Amino acid sequence: MSTKQTILIVEDETNIANFMAAILQANDYIVKTAKNGQQAETMISSHCPDLILLDLGLPDMDGIQIIKSVRKWSAVPIIVVSARDREYDKVEALDLGADDYITKPFGTSEMLARIRTALRHGITAAEAPNESGIYKSGGLCVDMIRRRVTLDGEELHLTKIEYKIVMLLCLHGGRVLTYDFILRNVWGPYTDRDNQILRVNMANIRRKLEKNPAEPRYIRTEVGVGYRMPDNELIVTM
Ligand code: CA
Repeated sequence: MSTKQTILIVEDETNIANFMAAILQANDYIVKTAKNGQQAETMISSHCPDLILLDLGLPDMDGIQIIKSVRKWSAVPIIVVSARDREYDKVEALDLGADDYITKPFGTSEMLARIRTALRHGITAAEAPNESGIYKSGGLCVDMIRRRVTLDGEELHLTKIEYKIVMLLCLHGGRVLTYDFILRNVWGPYTDRDNQILRVNMANIRRKLEKNPAEPRYIRTEVGVGYRMPDNELIVTM
């Protein structure tokens, strides 16, 4: 029995679909392709792929429609492949349940890294986020049991809100979190969606966390979309 994972490419541009298929096959994935939305919906329900690479600009429908209909019945990881300068689309896709996005043109290693992260999160998605682990990335260590954050061995003093933001990003390491997602999870579901409060807190966190806040190492800005922390080992302690 094959243990290879199946990836469905939904893309109407043949060149791009072929390019992605070749890379994925070389990396031991089984590849299926769909050229339009209708074909995609049929293939998703009949082949149950392990991951979907989804172009938003399809000839017969908006890729957003596919995310909506798939999320009614499946948690399969979806990575949106979008054109440049369509931040609004990316945010909408992520808030509707897409796992991540890559922007055309993208590099091979970037695509493979995003796929690995999304597949790993897909496997653990059924479990509640583990809030009793230790996240490590470079000199940064976030100990969620003792609620302690250290940078190069020195303890950082974060406010309660700052700590909640950092912990949320650690728990979703490698994934981009939208402003809306962070606001809802840190301030609660009824917060008025004010990005300004998040920006102020993020600036304060970076002042404490980053040696050079202009070139952040730990918390990356995804312009117009949100923030992402590196995908690092979350050490789970029981
Ligand atoms: Ca297209």
